[in-house]
Amino acid sequence: MVDKTYEFQAEVSRLLEIVTHSLYSNKDIFLRELLSNAADACDRLRYEALTHSDLTKDEGGFKITITPDKKTKTLIITDNGIGISRQDLIDNLGTIARSGTTEFLNTLKKDKNKKEETNLIGQFGVGFYSAFMVADEVDVLTRKAGTDKAYLWKSKGLGTFEIEDAEKEGCGTRITLHLKKGEEEYLEPTRLQHIVKTYSDYITVPFFLVEDKSKEVQINSATPLWSRPKKDITAEQYKEFYHQIAHAFDEPWDILHYHVEGVLEYTALLFIPESKPFDLFDPKREVHIKLYIKKVFITADCQELLPGFLRFVRGVVDAQDLPLSISREMLQHEPRLIKMRSGITKKILEALNTKSTKDPQAYLKFWKNFGAVLKEGLYEDIGQKDAILPLCRFQSSLKSDWISLEEYVKDLQKGQKDIYYLSGPDIETLKHSPQLEGFTAKKINVLFLTDHVDEFWTTMVDKYKDHPLKSITSHDINLKDMGEEENKKEKKKDKEKEPLTNLEAFLKVVYGTKVKDVKTSQRLTNSPVCLVADEEGMHLRLQKLMGQDQFIDLTEKRTLEINPTHPIIQFMEKNVDDKKKHQLLEDTAWLLLDEALILEGNPVKSAASFADRLNRVLEKVDSA
Ligand code: ADP
Repeated sequence: MVDKTYEFQAEVSRLLEIVTHSLYSNKDIFLRELLSNAADACDRLRYEALTHSDLTKDEGGFKITITPDKKTKTLIITDNGIGISRQDLIDNLGTIARSGTTEFLNTLKKDKNKKEETNLIGQFGVGFYSAFMVADEVDVLTRKAGTDKAYLWKSKGLGTFEIEDAEKEGCGTRITLHLKKGEEEYLEPTRLQHIVKTYSDYITVPFFLVEDKSKEVQINSATPLWSRPKKDITAEQYKEFYHQIAHAFDEPWDILHYHVEGVLEYTALLFIPESKPFDLFDPKREVHIKLYIKKVFITADCQELLPGFLRFVRGVVDAQDLPLSISREMLQHEPRLIKMRSGITKKILEALNTKSTKDPQAYLKFWKNFGAVLKEGLYEDIGQKDAILPLCRFQSSLKSDWISLEEYVKDLQKGQKDIYYLSGPDIETLKHSPQLEGFTAKKINVLFLTDHVDEFWTTMVDKYKDHPLKSITSHDINLKDMGEEENKKEKKKDKEKEPLTNLEAFLKVVYGTKVKDVKTSQRLTNSPVCLVADEEGMHLRLQKLMGQDQFIDLTEKRTLEINPTHPIIQFMEKNVDDKKKHQLLEDTAWLLLDEALILEGNPVKSAASFADRLNRVLEKVDSA
């Protein structure tokens, strides 16, 4: 008797619609998805049983069977894994929890090209729902380990599913696919064998093909991919494995497969994706590495195996020396895992280094995807500084290509020791920054930092090799004896830049506490003004970015520099004592401060006052 009929979550219905109505280019993967779920269920029960041995007391070992039945046109897949509770049937087989699904479906909606669409979805992996590619009805009979209640879930894949109470011997799940007309090939033993060999051979749980009740043949080798010699693994097998463990749909950008012996013994098979995973900037910053101990699955997302700044890496680590009975809580304090983590980190950073020198173009692709994440390591784990800094790539004021710090220091100008940078919201804003003018005039390159994380690591890393890193918005920049070509001309100009003490004093009165100080600039060549910060100002900026003090007014903590060679500034200096021009000078002063803020990508303090002042000044155009 049907207890209740449920509706699928909107995303599931949408997915099912695509799955069932598209001419699918690779239907075979439905079997891969179902077998991988069945094997996961066995792995999960095996792990639970390490601490609750009664859970598997009746079982003679884990196994998955595949039974084709030509008479009833059904394909049955059974496992003796962990099973599914009633609530989980509703939650897991009625909704999709995988992050990024909604975004993914949205991109499909926009895509008009059916063929493209179906290819994409094949790569995405639709999990359990792929069963509806070949079946017009799917039954799931299941009993959760440790309970004696079984349930039957049924659906035709058309918007609803039903759940009823049922009977089942032993725990685990039996999935019955009522094959659609025309899908009889999936009842042919050789066909099934071929699919298993292609996609699921290395899964550690044995698969048996049941041709008739008396004849069960094991059809997978059940040796995990990572424990096979590298030379026996094809690129295609690596890719399939990556797709399966990472739920990914891109090519691996790089593959690291290695075995470590000595104090610790482990095998790692790691993949660096070619494109950004959907959850890369999820605030949880979770690591996705599967931990196995002696080929036994322990946990899917072992946070202890990688630092957060390498969270884009996917893969498997199989440790030899850890006790199988280790609990997830114990993993957190396991010193051997911490050692493994530093070994794995080193290996990945070395691999990146090799790739960056051997294939700089390919490396740049990686950097654009994951550079912002990798740089987190510069403040999270300062010990890795020397390994990460050479891997960083930057855009800059004078070069069109991305450059490394090494390339930057090779190009230092005469008298230049520091590495200069400018950080801000985007490249366009930075390119138009007034602070840059003096540097550009002297052909001194400035690195552009536009990632949020740049604000943080630049406070922790003070130099690269012997070269201090310095922000060009810092108050104590002195370009005097620097720069090759224009040095001579500049020196002459330097002399001209006498402090405009009268105007400085006037402006200080006008601004009051709205800026920290007013000074004559040595760095500006074209713009009238810019804002610079001393150490306190820099520190407060960081605090604000970190959300610690949203009410700090950063303008108040910075110094306004004025350009003595600019006509507006010269006009102001000339008329500073003229009482009749007082209003005009005051309006101009405020407009200049607003301009400095706008050029940094900030909003003006008060749009209404800004407009009033601008109008008052523009009215004067008439009398000019
Ligand atoms: P995914 O495996 O990517 O999470 P699926 O759509 O394939 O997505 O499966 C959804 C969920 O249903 C799984 O995460 C699992 O919790 C549950 N499930 C599916 N098949 C089985 C099974 N044979 N045994 C136990 N649980 C299962």
